[in-house]
Amino acid sequence: MTFANVRVALLAFFLFAVLVLVWAVNEHRISKSNIEYASDYQVYISENENLAFHDILNLPQSDWQNLPQKSNSLSFGYSTASHWIKLPLKNQIKKGQFLVVNYSLLDEIDFYQVMKEGETLKIETGDARPFDNRLVKVSNFAFPIDAQSQGSTLFIRVKSSGTLKVPLYFEQYEDLIQAEAAENLYSGAFAGYMGLMILMSLIIVAISGDKNYLLYGVYVLASLGLTLNLNGLLFRWLWPGSPEWNQVSTNLFSYTLIYFQLVFVCRYIKLENSKIKVLSDVLKMLAMVGLLISLVPQWYMPLSKISGIFILLTNLFCLFLAVDYCRKNKSRLRGELYFAMAWLVMALGVSVVVLGVFGILPSTPIVNNANMIASVLEVFFLTTAMVCRFESERQARIEATLQSHKEAEQRVHIEKHMLFQATHDSVSHLPKKDVLLANWPKLSAEVPSDHSASAVLIHFEGYYGQVLSFGQQVAEAMVHELHDRVRRLLGNKSQYLKLDYQWSQDRAVVLDSLDLCLILISPKEYDISEELNWLHNSLSGPFNYENMFLDIELTIGVSKLHDSEKVDRVIRRAQVASKEASQRRLKVLHYHNKLGQDPELTGIIMSKLKMALDQGRLQLAFQPQVNTHNGSLFGVEALVRWKDDEYGWIPPDVFVPIAEQCRLITPLTAFVVKESCAFYQRFYQETGQEIAISINLSARNLSDEFLIQEVSSIIEKYRVPPRLVTFEVTETAIIGDIEKSRNALEDLLDLGVKMALDDFGTGYSSLVYLKELPFTELKIDKGFLVKDDKAQHNASLVEAAVMLGKALNMEVIAEGVESLEMAEQLAGYGCQLCQGFYFAKPMSETDFGLWYKGYDNKRNIIGTKHEITYET
Ligand code: C2E
Ligand code: CA
Ligand code: CA
Repeated sequence: MTFANVRVALLAFFLFAVLVLVWAVNEHRISKSNIEYASDYQVYISENENLAFHDILNLPQSDWQNLPQKSNSLSFGYSTASHWIKLPLKNQIKKGQFLVVNYSLLDEIDFYQVMKEGETLKIETGDARPFDNRLVKVSNFAFPIDAQSQGSTLFIRVKSSGTLKVPLYFEQYEDLIQAEAAENLYSGAFAGYMGLMILMSLIIVAISGDKNYLLYGVYVLASLGLTLNLNGLLFRWLWPGSPEWNQVSTNLFSYTLIYFQLVFVCRYIKLENSKIKVLSDVLKMLAMVGLLISLVPQWYMPLSKISGIFILLTNLFCLFLAVDYCRKNKSRLRGELYFAMAWLVMALGVSVVVLGVFGILPSTPIVNNANMIASVLEVFFLTTAMVCRFESERQARIEATLQSHKEAEQRVHIEKHMLFQATHDSVSHLPKKDVLLANWPKLSAEVPSDHSASAVLIHFEGYYGQVLSFGQQVAEAMVHELHDRVRRLLGNKSQYLKLDYQWSQDRAVVLDSLDLCLILISPKEYDISEELNWLHNSLSGPFNYENMFLDIELTIGVSKLHDSEKVDRVIRRAQVASKEASQRRLKVLHYHNKLGQDPELTGIIMSKLKMALDQGRLQLAFQPQVNTHNGSLFGVEALVRWKDDEYGWIPPDVFVPIAEQCRLITPLTAFVVKESCAFYQRFYQETGQEIAISINLSARNLSDEFLIQEVSSIIEKYRVPPRLVTFEVTETAIIGDIEKSRNALEDLLDLGVKMALDDFGTGYSSLVYLKELPFTELKIDKGFLVKDDKAQHNASLVEAAVMLGKALNMEVIAEGVESLEMAEQLAGYGCQLCQGFYFAKPMSETDFGLWYKGYDNKRNIIGTKHEITYET
């Protein structure tokens, strides 16, 4: 049983108690009625205000009317006439009895008793006179009649500005007091009940802040006020000395009630239908007008006549709205049914009251109290409806809160997941480099002062080779296996720092899927070679893939971390070492200054390079590219050369990456493009021959918006046909943002130039790039052609690469061709374009001119054309 049910049950119990009480009181009073209305009374109705009692006494008997047979009370409806009632006392009177006129808005009541002896007793009372005028201070009018009154005649003049009902009966004094006590009790119970409902509405307002419940409270208050007022209780309690207030108060309460009832119901059902809304607004306005007119005493009568009908109409209107609302809100039917029931009961109750007022229904206690009974029931239904709604709204709010809480939780969960995805390798879930960098301040603090830390870089070799030999799936599986091995092997090895304590316990981060980085700590001056050899051996064992045993080939580069050095830089050094190790076919290589870039040297080179560029001290070397099918010169690759006064020849492998770092790459490339075109122009002028030139672009150039403009204006200036220009780009230049790279490549292609993918086979990104980017030429890296014990393995790779390039409609050229055998072999695979020392080394322009003069076509024609059939 829920809280709401308990409340409903309590309400039901309370309602039951009140009903029983009302019923009991009414039963009690009915039993007191001891006058035969039809035979005992005679009535004379006079519009004449100034009629004296003397005139009444002298009326002929024929002027007095008997009441209809069926009448059991004196109910005259709305009438301002004076009603004279004649009641000859026969044997009804017992000792100590009162004649009681049941209260019903009687404005004036004059009581005359004409004794047998002719003596006349007169008492004036009524609502139009102060309450203190009453002989007995009870709600009804009571007039004492003693036993000696037998044979006397009673005359009662009643006059009302409202409804006129005069039920009369005789009652013992004790019974009168008892009845009064009972009446007080049930009026009190009624007031308490209504008060409780008002209190409940206030509590709900306090809890929910919903003003609807406040409107409801005001409505119940007006209803309570009206009922108490109609029962003369407010007069008695609040303004006993000011009877004129009684005229105003009834109308005030009635129209307030109507107004708030309309406002409350319209708000409650969220009235939207425009026509009905207009109607409700009109009704509200009329109620307002009534409320204002209530203050004009002359209008009291007509207004109070209208109020009964108006209240009835309003209740019927509310009933209509509630039923309509019920139909439309089947989901919350229970609460809305109570709401409709409330207005049904009230409409019925008011109907009964109105019919009673107009004398259509007899003036029985039930009819007289229909308003109060209906109010009790109505308020019960309304409160139940409100409690139901409050409860369902509360439930809805709780659900909404739970829902939003759940959503927030899910969002956090998703964000966490996304963060994990962004910071971890998608396949092995090893952390990425960013995790190491972010954690580094904490991690570095973990290195004891007598220990040193080294970045250990594990590089997976020959990814491309594996892709070409066994397919991408196998190569990926090997990478995955390597990651797994690292995780398994290092899980508990405390000499490797835990790099990812936020997400996992991993001791390795992924730089890209082929490079893993560890941080090894060891006592200072301790030789870690043995440890690294162990690491290499443990990780590089054969890998079983569908019963094939494949070697996982690794190189390890190591670099020591110096105090307060950026970890990023150390990792780069380890990477340089691993690259060198891979070139030298070493398992493990420690970084030393002669490898790659020495940070100190970098700075020096930067400033020297800038000066060299400014002073135009860079030169170009040209290396021929030969077509071995017909021996013709296919083109030349322009390679930048720099001789420093102090350091001598500095290889482009050293200074180009440095130029990339400090934005000198833009003037450098511009220089190379310009010099190459100038070379073309001179060559063409001297020989009358066109010559194709290949120019290297670096990664930075691709993100340079001005490059295209500059290139196009240089080409134009030196009148180089764009079809003779090929730009070479390495794979690493395009890995970053593939969309951006594609756009840059397409912009270049729009100039009419060609694009070559340089160093194919040294990278390790997905072959997808090849298909997605618009390259026209594939340049197989010299690394593939190295002659050693793996020659056979590499040979098949070269063949596969050639096939791949041709399948994608690309020119395939091999670089680093150092011998005739190699050239022959390549020709055998269908690759007839070659560049390498066998044909010529890179030469200065002058040397190239000489070389070209003595160039013998026939010398470089190799074998016959290799036929390749593709299976697509
Ligand atoms: P790359 O584009 O792969 O250039 C070919 C490199 O291979 C040249 O080295 C060339 O001298 C060398 N080479 C040619 N034939 C053989 C051979 O038969 N055997 C061997 N072992 N090597 C051969 P270089 O001139 O030292 O250039 C190194 C790299 O520097 C180039 O590699 C290229 O990436 C970069 N580079 C050179 N000039 C430029 C330039 O003007 N701009 C840019 N961005 N990069 C340049
Ligand atoms: Ca190149
Ligand atoms: Ca190359």
